[in-house]
Amino acid sequence: MRYLIIADIHGNLTALEAVLKDAARQGAVGEIWCLGDIVGYGPEPAECIALVKELDGVCVAGNHDRGAIGQIEMQNFNPFAAMALEWTMDKLSAADMLYLGKLPEEAQIGDFMLVHGSPASPLFEYIISTGNAERNFNFFDTKYCLVGHTHAPAVFRQEPEKISAPMIMANKGFLLSDEKTIINPGAVGQPRDGDPRASYVIYDTDDHFLRFYRVEYDVRSVQDKMAQAGLPLQLIMRLETGK
Ligand code: ZN
Repeated sequence: MRYLIIADIHGNLTALEAVLKDAARQGAVGEIWCLGDIVGYGPEPAECIALVKELDGVCVAGNHDRGAIGQIEMQNFNPFAAMALEWTMDKLSAADMLYLGKLPEEAQIGDFMLVHGSPASPLFEYIISTGNAERNFNFFDTKYCLVGHTHAPAVFRQEPEKISAPMIMANKGFLLSDEKTIINPGAVGQPRDGDPRASYVIYDTDDHFLRFYRVEYDVRSVQDKMAQAGLPLQLIMRLETGK
């Protein structure tokens, strides 16, 4: 069975469609796991919710998903994110809001725990260093934990006899071992690791291999839609730099 693991779509339907198409090219996908932030920043939040619903996978809530329904106050977001969220709220139907509100903060599937931020703080914490990765190993009982939120692909593996977990910047793939591992597939809709291409992971249960992929999409068309929507210029520009 092959799982498609995605995070941080952020209202970028064009990037999501490119990921789905590219993933299908690698072989049939059995189920999709989505690590939250379907909306926020991007120009097609309702369309992204509709597509994620249709994909019928497992999806957890991100901070922007909760912000878009008023469950997280705007002062918790930077000014550009807050502006985009106010705009997003206006575009969502009552059914969309209900869907976002019902997304769980965490999900467990076999050996995997799924959260948006971190197991210690599912909606807010960024796992960006070996220090906070190390601390978070104590907050999940499964072997593996999938996170998003930072918009940068990363792997943290808990090696025996070591105080800190080594970080492997994943641009290819690796074999899942028995060691506890935290994996971030990177962002579909707003990468921030300096590579503007949409990021995703495929996990194959046959060989326990987890592989990272990047795929180009039509950034310009998304920028045009954002400009038409009056979304902040800074958010429009960062799509082409991936920073
Ligand atoms: Zn995000």
